[in-house]
Amino acid sequence: MITVKEATRLINTTIRDFGVEEVTLGNSLGRVLAEDLKSDRDLPPFDRVMYDGIAIRYEDYAKGQRSFPILGVQAAGAPRAAAEAEGNCVEIMTGAVLTIGFDTVVQYEWLEIKEGVATIRPGYTIQKGRHIHPKGMDHQQGEVIVKQGCIITPAEISIAATIGQTKIWVRRLPTAAIISTGNELVDIGETPEPHQIRRSNVYAIAASLGGYNVQVDILHIDDEEEEIRAKLEMSLAAYDVVILSGGVSMGKFDFIPQVLDELGVEKLFHKVAQRPGKPFWFGQTDSCIIFALPGNPVSTFMGTIRYVLPWLRRCLGLEGMTRQYARLQEDFSFDKEMQYFLSVKKVNHADGTTWAQPMKGNGSGDLANLARIDGFLELPMDTAFFPKGSAWPLWEFR
Ligand code: AMP
Ligand code: MG
Repeated sequence: MITVKEATRLINTTIRDFGVEEVTLGNSLGRVLAEDLKSDRDLPPFDRVMYDGIAIRYEDYAKGQRSFPILGVQAAGAPRAAAEAEGNCVEIMTGAVLTIGFDTVVQYEWLEIKEGVATIRPGYTIQKGRHIHPKGMDHQQGEVIVKQGCIITPAEISIAATIGQTKIWVRRLPTAAIISTGNELVDIGETPEPHQIRRSNVYAIAASLGGYNVQVDILHIDDEEEEIRAKLEMSLAAYDVVILSGGVSMGKFDFIPQVLDELGVEKLFHKVAQRPGKPFWFGQTDSCIIFALPGNPVSTFMGTIRYVLPWLRRCLGLEGMTRQYARLQEDFSFDKEMQYFLSVKKVNHADGTTWAQPMKGNGSGDLANLARIDGFLELPMDTAFFPKGSAWPLWEFR
C-alpha cells in the first residue's frame, strides 16, 4: 500500500501530450487554448468616441467659448471625416471615429441645442481628450492579448472574435473509455431486479470528464474473466485513457488487476492508504493510461476528482491552476493510518475565508450524500485530530 503523495507522484510520471487541433470558434468554449491570441490591429483600432454628444477643439473651450455651431453629424460606422474645426463642433455618436480636427467630446447631457448651435451648460468642466478611447491605447497591433495554456471562457471567445479568429488552435483531448464492471449492474434505462443496481458511476465519471469536453465511450463488463480479457484488450488498444469502476478489491470475482497484469499493463500501484478508495489500481501501456477505481460510488467519485481530473489537467498543460484550501467548521477526528477525504459542504464567511462543513454521510456507498456536498477535504494520514479552524486542501467539484 502506498501513500496518497506517492500515488500522486506516480500518476504525474505518466503525463502525456495529446497534441493540438484547430476548431471553430463556436466549438472552442471550455477547450484549452494552444496559441497566443494576438491583436490583428490596434485596440481600439481608431480614436473611438465613448459617448453621444459633440466633438470640439479643447483649445476653443480653453479660450472661453461655450457655444459651438454644428457642422454636421459623425455616426458610428461612418468613415473618418474632416471638418473646419476651429470654433465649430460636430454631433458625434458612441462608437464613431473622432472627426479630424477635434480632440474632445462633450456628452448630450451637458448641452443645450438650439437652432444649429450647441451650448455647454454652466457647471461642467472639461478636460482635453475627454470621452475618447485613443487608438492603440489597450493594445498595439501584433501584441499578445491572451497567452496560450488557459481554458477558453466567454472572455477569451470575445477576444478571439474581436481579432477575427473564426478558427482557433486548442489542445487535443484524449479518447476515453469508461467501463463499469460487475454482474449486479444494469444500465440506467433498465428496471433493476431486487438484487441489481444501476451503473451510475460511469455516468458520474463521464460527466466529470465532460467538464473538459472529453468525449467518452461508456462500456460494461461482467465479472467474467474471459469477457474482461477480451474487452480490456480491445479498450487498451483503442483509447488513450481507460477508466474502470469496480472489480479491484479482494472479492472472489475482482479479476481486473490480474487480467490487466496478464495483458502486460505496467502496474504503477495497487492500493492507496486513503479512505474512501483504498483498492485504487493504476497503470499504463505505451499508448494507454488505466485508472481502475473501486466501485463504491463515493470512492469512484472521489478518485475521479482527486486523481483523474488533475491528471487530465496536467496533460492539457493546466497544472498552474490555483489550489483551494478551506478551514474546518468543526473539530474532526480520524485515527487510522490513512489519508482521509472528508465529504464537506463549502461555507463562505463574510471575512473572505472559505470553510468546510463536514457532511459525513453513511460511508462510500452513500451516493445520495454527494448531492449535499461540494467536495472533499484532504486530511493528512499522520494526524488524528483536526481542530476547528485548521485549513486543508479542498477538492471541489461544483
Ligand atoms: P466493487 O468495487 O466491484 O467491489 O464494488 C463496490 C460496490 O460498488 C458494490 O456495492 C457495487 O455494486 C458498487 N458499484 C460498482 N460499480 C458500480 C457502478 N458503476 N455504479 C454504481 N455502483 C457500483
Ligand atoms: Mg464488483
